[in-house]
Amino acid sequence: MSVITIERKVLEKNDQIADRNRRVFAERGIFALNLVSSPGSGKTSILEKTFQGLRGEMKTAVIEGDVQTDLDAQRVTQYGVPVVQIVTLGGCHLEANLVQDALAKLDLTGIELLFIENVGNLVCPSNYDLGEAMKVVVLSTTEGDDKPLKYPAMIRNSRILLINKIDLIPYVSCDLNALRNNALQVNPDLKIFEISCVTGEGISDWCDWLRKKDCSEQ
Ligand code: MG
Ligand code: ZN
Repeated sequence: MSVITIERKVLEKNDQIADRNRRVFAERGIFALNLVSSPGSGKTSILEKTFQGLRGEMKTAVIEGDVQTDLDAQRVTQYGVPVVQIVTLGGCHLEANLVQDALAKLDLTGIELLFIENVGNLVCPSNYDLGEAMKVVVLSTTEGDDKPLKYPAMIRNSRILLINKIDLIPYVSCDLNALRNNALQVNPDLKIFEISCVTGEGISDWCDWLRKKDCSEQ
């Protein structure tokens, strides 16, 4: 029982700081997205394709969460996008206070879009509000079509699902219809994009949605 109490206190504290982050985003008109997925689903590649797709139309910044390295941050920097790296040193999720610290290191002037790339983990990041407008969950076809049923909290707490690596559909045992239906069964309000960072398929639809930044859209 005491464990549950401590956990609840940690989350309450986290939510207070998340609200502060949310106020910063609201005051500055920043649309913040919390990118969550298992490791290797392609979050960083999606960011790269997104920067290419938006071609500098929206002033964007990135907060990169990583367990150990700044390799992803180095990739993102090549696109001229301001990036702050958070190394969690083994921590398996980002917390609102880490994002608050990262925000202090970013020049937020004129920033319209902020991507927070969470640590690759489909479990606990779903519990931690970072102050984002919404969570964007990435599932790749190589992970199979049953992930939404195995990690329902993440699907339920997300507003967008990016199904990545659709170019690999002929080679993997993933039924795209089943994946879509499993996800919608858990969260009927989920907006789904099917994309490939190799062929570029679906990226323009995703970028169009970002241009509109329509939070009310289901
Ligand atoms: Mg990455
Ligand atoms: Zn964790």
